[in-house]
Parts: sequence; C-alpha cells; structure tokens
Amino acid sequence: MPLDPRVADLLQRWWGFDRLRPLQSDAIAAALAGRDSLVVMPTGGGKSLCYQLPPLVGDSTDVVISPLVALMKDQVDALEAIGYPAAALHSGLSAAERGKIRDRLAAGELRLLFTAPERLVNTGLLDVLVRVGVRRFAIDEAHCISHWGHDFRPEYRQLALLRDRFPDASLHAFTATATPRVRDDIVGQLSLHGPALLVGTFDRPNLCYRVVPRTDRGGQVLEILGRHRGAASIVYCISRKETERLASRLAAAGILARPYHAGLDQSERRRTQEAFARETIDVGVATVAFGRGIDRSDVRLVIHTALPTSGEAYQQETGRAGRDGLAAECVLLYSSADVFSWESLIRKSATEAELEPDEAAALVAGQLEHLHAMRRYAQSARCRHAALSEYFGQIYPHAACGACDVCLGETDALPEATVTAQKILSCVARVEQRFGVRHVGEVLRGARTEGVLRHGHERLSTFGLLAALDQRTVENLVHQLLDQELLQRSGGDRPVIGLNERSWEVLRGRRPVVLLEPRVGSAARPTRIEADDWQGVDRDLFERLRSWRRRVADARGKPAWTILDDKALRAIARERPASPAALLRCRGIGEKRLADFGAAILDLVAGRPPAEVE
Ligand code: ADP
Ligand code: ZN
Repeated sequence: MPLDPRVADLLQRWWGFDRLRPLQSDAIAAALAGRDSLVVMPTGGGKSLCYQLPPLVGDSTDVVISPLVALMKDQVDALEAIGYPAAALHSGLSAAERGKIRDRLAAGELRLLFTAPERLVNTGLLDVLVRVGVRRFAIDEAHCISHWGHDFRPEYRQLALLRDRFPDASLHAFTATATPRVRDDIVGQLSLHGPALLVGTFDRPNLCYRVVPRTDRGGQVLEILGRHRGAASIVYCISRKETERLASRLAAAGILARPYHAGLDQSERRRTQEAFARETIDVGVATVAFGRGIDRSDVRLVIHTALPTSGEAYQQETGRAGRDGLAAECVLLYSSADVFSWESLIRKSATEAELEPDEAAALVAGQLEHLHAMRRYAQSARCRHAALSEYFGQIYPHAACGACDVCLGETDALPEATVTAQKILSCVARVEQRFGVRHVGEVLRGARTEGVLRHGHERLSTFGLLAALDQRTVENLVHQLLDQELLQRSGGDRPVIGLNERSWEVLRGRRPVVLLEPRVGSAARPTRIEADDWQGVDRDLFERLRSWRRRVADARGKPAWTILDDKALRAIARERPASPAALLRCRGIGEKRLADFGAAILDLVAGRPPAEVE
C-alpha cells in the first residue's frame, strides 16, 4: 500500500529522520487505513513512531495506553522537545494539571494522550474520549494483557471494553514479546478484527553479546565498565543486597553508580532514575525493576551478573542498550550456580502461590523450560546473534556476526582440559560424593581450611592437585562440568556433588572434555560496527556537544537524551555543519530543534562559545 505522501515530509520536519524503517511504514499504513494491527518489534525497533506519526497526518487525537508513568513522562518530554503536542494523564498530577490536560483535550489541541489502563476505565475519562471522538488507540506493552507473557498485568484485561465503547475506532497493539501464544492472546483479548500482523526482526546488529564465565563478580564488572568510562551502563543483579554491595564497590572505585531495587522507597528510586536519565550518574546497579521506566537511548553497556530467567527477559533487558542504533555491549557473567538458585526459587514461589497442584506443576514446568533455554544459550559456543534469533523463531542469515565473543574468537579452550576434569572428578570420588562445590575446590587447591582439616581431607591423594589455581577458578571449572552433565548435583539446601555414568567415562579416559579458560579479565576485541560509528567523528566536538546538552537538560529539568540523542550528536560532530541548512540535513534535527538549538550548535561547531539557550 503506498503511504500517504505527507508522511515523509512530517518525518523530516518533526523528527529529522530520512526514512521510515520497513515495518514502521507498514504499521503507519495500517493506522492511517484504520485497520487494527499487532506490531511485534524488539526494544529499540522504533515502535513509538508508529503511533506518534499517524495523528499528525489528519490532526486527530489518538490515545496511547502505557503501563508505567515514568515511561509516559519520558515520551512526552521527548515529544515536547520536537514541539509535538502530547500529554500524559497519570496519578502523579495535581487536579489543576489534570484539568488543564482535559481542556487541551476538549479543545482538540493534543495529537497524543498517554494514560494507564486503570485510569482509562475508572475515571470517567472514557466518556470524555467518546465526546472528543477518538478514532485510534495504541496499546503499548500489549503482552501485559496475557498471562502467558512475562509481565502479566490484570488491569490490562479491562481494555477489552475499548472495542464495545469505540466500535468505529481501530486498535493497535505493540509488544516486544514474540511467542505465538502471547500474540494470539492479545488478538483475542482485544478482539482485534483481521489485524495486520507485523513482526519485526529480533536481531539487534549493533549489540555485541558476550558470555563470560563468572569468576569474580565485582572485579569483572569493574574491568568491563573500564571499557566504557563515562558512558551510560546498567548492571543487573539478582538480589537487592547485591545491588547495594556492588554499587558501593563501584562508587569506591570512583564510578558514578547507584543501586536501584524495589526495597528502596519510592522517592529514592525516582531520584536514581532521574539522575540516570539526566546523566548525573553513569551506572545503575539494579534488579530487573530498573530500566523499565527508562528510555535513555545512549546506554552503551548492559551487564548481567547472573543468568536471567528467560530469553524474553534477556532480550528485553539487553534491549535497553544501544537504542540509538549505535554500538553497545551486553555481557552476561555466567555460572551454573545461578541455575540451581533459580530452580529452587521457582519451586519455592510456586509452593507459596497457593495454586492447585497441577496448576503449580504447569507453572514450574513452564518456568523451568524458559530457564533451561537460557542456560543452553549461556553454555553454547555458537554465535550469540544466531542463537538469540532462533530463540525467537527467526533464522539468522549470516554465518558470523562479527559482534559476539564466539565470532570474534574471544573464547579460549583450557589446555589439558580432560586431565583437569579427571582430577576434579577423582576428587569428588575421594570425598565420597558427600560435599559441595566449595569444599571440593578447597581440597583440590590444597587449602587447609577448618572444614578440610576436620574431615582429614588434607591426607587425600587429590589434595592440592590444582594448587596452581585459585578458589574461584576451580569452582568455575566444577560448574562447567556440572553444566555439561559430567557431574551431578543433589537438590536441597546443602547440595552435594556426585558422579554419574558420564563422569566414569571421563575417568576411564573414554570421553574427552572441553572446558573454557576461566578469566577475570576478558579479551574483548573491538567490533567493526563500533569503529564505524566513530568513523569521521570529531571526538572533542562530540564531548563539547555532550556537555552543552547536559547543561541544557539541567536547565530544563529534562532527560538529556530528549534534547538530542547521541546519534544526532555524532552526526553533527562528523558533518561539522556550517549553516542552518547543513544542520537540518543531520539526522535527528527537525525544524523545532533547528529553531531552538541551531544557533548554539553552530557556535559549538565553529569553536565559539555557544549562544544561550533558555
Ligand atoms: P521501541 O519503542 O520499539 O523500543 P523507540 O521507538 O524508542 O523503540 O525507537 C528506538 C530508537 O530508534 C529511538 O532512538 C528513535 O529515535 C530511533 N528511530 C526510530 N525510528 C527511526 C527512523 N525511522 N529513523 C531513524 N531513527 C529512528
Ligand atoms: Zn556471532
């Protein structure tokens, strides 16, 4: 379907973008035709434009349903920066502020109104929207309507009434969750009529994925952050305690880092999110709650210090990196110890959920399936881009991605792995398969700890067989053997490790073993895309633009990226425009930004002190 010719013009004038991405074009065509749609795109794929652009074509007022206030506010800020009339109705507003928004709504001034599902159905807002004659609804994060999704929100179920109350309106659902079951559920729950089903590519070519055996969490995190000094980074941890511990360790090392988790009070959490958005801190050390409300597009690094529980979760959390399309890195620090902790947590929470036995069993089975798929991802030595694409049912078309540890040739095999494995397995046999990973490690490296001495294990023939290694390295090797099922581990609170048939094959020399070299430091090599992103960019100018942007953002009390994103700053620092017309040709510069910042930016490029921006 040919797109309305006005679209390209609007895109250039308002956003300063040259073209739509292919799926955006289809999604916008569906919206303009009033045809229901379900748009599935990964985080960073460009969903928001699909509902932001259409109302400009016919000056309509469209409504966006979004689950989180922070998310709405960020979007409205970003829209206001380009002069786009949008507002968000949410619980954080005073009655007067809400009244003002309702007035603008009634006067037909707004192109987009953001609101949460519970506010939509419970406040009389629906009647107002009927009066205004709303013809289009965008439902963001639509997987929240499905309990097959990873983020079910009961209040989303009430959105079913949109179809009845607005029989002539079209509904447009957006999600990054790709499973067919969730998709079908969205279509059913919202009663979408013959929707255009638009599914994007899940691969994120600008992200470089690495999986690194975890040996020393804090040390490794510091080392990786060192590659991204001063850049926005998110470090995900499993527990609250750990976010605090790690954040203070990073802070002690001079890194601007703060913890974030659900146990902190709300105002503290908000302050941290805002500090991150405004670039006064660089690193958020967080449980998974962080970042859901964060749209910062220049996140250059996402570290997981433990295994996530599903590929969807991993895709979503790593998806916060590089949303501006520039190179970013995602590192997963992996140990099979995580699998065991998650397994017991999953069982425990199913028991506590007071479900019928077969319901609980189904829940556990489903969650374990997700977990083990993620475990296989972490353990395999296959291209990460290919593995993730396949996880989402898509075929990765390249033989090597050039942007993962495997394709970059960073993973090293441990020399003499079979012999090392035999030493470990025989030690497990010597301690009679009655001890856990730590104890076996202590015996192997010859540590005269209280536990070792108490059991007389310093007299075993395997005592000190791996004396050249440290405790973390030995434990990591034991975990690798557990991963490969060359060892087994009992359940319960104090799991012990034991041998299985495969262990005996190794001990008898019938099965060769491959182990990865556990390293604290990683051998990260630069990717081509990283080099391309900086190609021709005047780095000094980029940094000057960045600090100017920070000042403007502070003065306006807005997140820095809403002023201009990094991709735009780099385009300017590459093109060095000398005139307003040349500046307008840079990506991300539309008419409003030219009017607001043109003079200041041209001054900076010319090396003059920038014009004041109020
Ligand atoms: P999503 O909501 O799917 O996570 P966003 O809508 O936030 O993704 O878009 C991700 C990034 O891509 C943003 O930085 C946005 O400015 C940029 N973007 C979106 N569409 C285009 C386009 N057509 N051309 C250039 N950049 C785009
Ligand atoms: Zn690869």
